[in-house]
Amino acid sequence: MQQFRGKGIGSGIAIGRIFFYEKKEDPVQRVSIEDPAAEIMRFETARAAAIEQLQQLRDKTLEEAGAENAAIFEAHRIMLSDSDYNDSIRHIIRVEKVCAEYAVSATADHFAGMFADMADDYLKARSADIRDISERIVRILSGRGNDVSCLSEPVILAAEDLTPSETIAFDRSKLLAFVTHLGSADSHTAILARTMHLPAVSGIAIDRSWNGRLAVVDGYSGTLSVDPDETLLREMLQIRRRDEKRRTLLQQLKGRESITKSGRKIRLCANISGVKDISAALENDAEGIGLLRSEFLYMESSNFPSEDTQFQAYKTVLQKMEGRQVVIRTLDLGSDKQASYFPLGKEDNPAMGYRAIRICLDHPEIFKTQLRALYRASAYGRLAILFPMIISLEEVLQCKKYAAEVKEELNNEKIPYSKDVELGIMIETPAAALISETLANEVDFFSIGTNDLTQFTLAIDRCNARLEPLNDPRHPAVLELIRMTIENGHKGGAWVGICGELAADTNLTRTLIEYGADELSVSPSLILPVRNEIIHMDCQSLYPISS
Ligand code: PEP
Ligand code: MG
Repeated sequence: MQQFRGKGIGSGIAIGRIFFYEKKEDPVQRVSIEDPAAEIMRFETARAAAIEQLQQLRDKTLEEAGAENAAIFEAHRIMLSDSDYNDSIRHIIRVEKVCAEYAVSATADHFAGMFADMADDYLKARSADIRDISERIVRILSGRGNDVSCLSEPVILAAEDLTPSETIAFDRSKLLAFVTHLGSADSHTAILARTMHLPAVSGIAIDRSWNGRLAVVDGYSGTLSVDPDETLLREMLQIRRRDEKRRTLLQQLKGRESITKSGRKIRLCANISGVKDISAALENDAEGIGLLRSEFLYMESSNFPSEDTQFQAYKTVLQKMEGRQVVIRTLDLGSDKQASYFPLGKEDNPAMGYRAIRICLDHPEIFKTQLRALYRASAYGRLAILFPMIISLEEVLQCKKYAAEVKEELNNEKIPYSKDVELGIMIETPAAALISETLANEVDFFSIGTNDLTQFTLAIDRCNARLEPLNDPRHPAVLELIRMTIENGHKGGAWVGICGELAADTNLTRTLIEYGADELSVSPSLILPVRNEIIHMDCQSLYPISS
């Protein structure tokens, strides 16, 4: 058994096989190896697996599409037994002492080039076949055997790094856990892992040879164990049973109000990234949606989602929440959240760059399309609109101007919308917190984004794993900005929620409520633990949640 310690960024225990996820665009690297004999064995194992895959494909195609279509797989299977091709790969590994992926890829270049230069059309066409069989072996060697969604059983996904757009593209039912080398607790990828309720560990130097091996991910201690022994498996299963028991106990809190012993009522809501998270929010008894990060709708699409597509998505969320408040944040694209069809260009400091409301105010056509979709959907529930990354009064006034224009358009077109849509702003820059007294007069509510507020107050990149120990949302400077924002919001008649990850920190629940927070919005799976904290605030906890 091998054990590796990183940082737990999503709690829970997962036991399963590792699937090494490699970005499609990653080129094959020329990696030196120590033991050519072992590397040749690796190649032979992958080659056997490729032959097996091709046999299955041939049989399936024969049955479903006839012999003619099945012939290509048979031809590929025969090519994989070609002695010149295989000898070349073994020779490169042995003489150059390089990894099998590189040897296969170099051989493919050589043979494919040779065929491409031939005069005979039939032989010319074999060039593509060489590339095809070689890519199949490389995919198997690097664990890219297939897309995760093609797997038959759920896996522990291991990757060097995962972007938020890659993370949302995975089929959740195929995932047991994430393990990455890069990534920090406040990155959007980690937030997504928590929303999906998956154990996750970052800071582990991933070894591709783990692909397919049994492993345990302990999201509490931030440990990955490859080839776990019996004792560890027993121990982990025990923790899983304890978790299960704890979850069952927490179920008793469903249907209860989130109200302190002294009678302070808090609205406890869910942070979600789209329609697919609504069931988790409802299962965990969310009292509303405190933050819908609408940019994920954009990131999941291959082009800008139309007004109608957005309208349908927002309407579904509002309908499913049956009259409970739904706060939808307008597009917060940029920094680590990118959409391929809207390249923002390389920036030295993208988190402080062209993003969120800056893009929207610069592109009224994008902004107004979203606002129209939101207002149209407002007829189906209780909507509040939230504007991200605000730094000035002017921005707030412009947002309100566009909202008023959209309402006017809908009036003229006789399209129904709710007259009670509240408008709010994210307080996630120190600038917004410091002028919150002025801003409060212009909006119905504030939502404090502690993830970015911490990043900008402490000058700590929230996605930089190396700075993780310094990324402290409990820093007195951050807490003071939160306190004064709530105070100023209330003075101006705005209610104040907290939707950053700090809202789920049960060690701070008391402080945040003492500051006067009206709403806490957290990942769905953390709603009941926070409610447990709130309702037992002045007495012993039902049981300790923190472990
Ligand atoms: C925040 O910054 O705290 C926040 C909730 O927004 P996001 O995490 O999406 O940047
Ligand atoms: Mg933010």
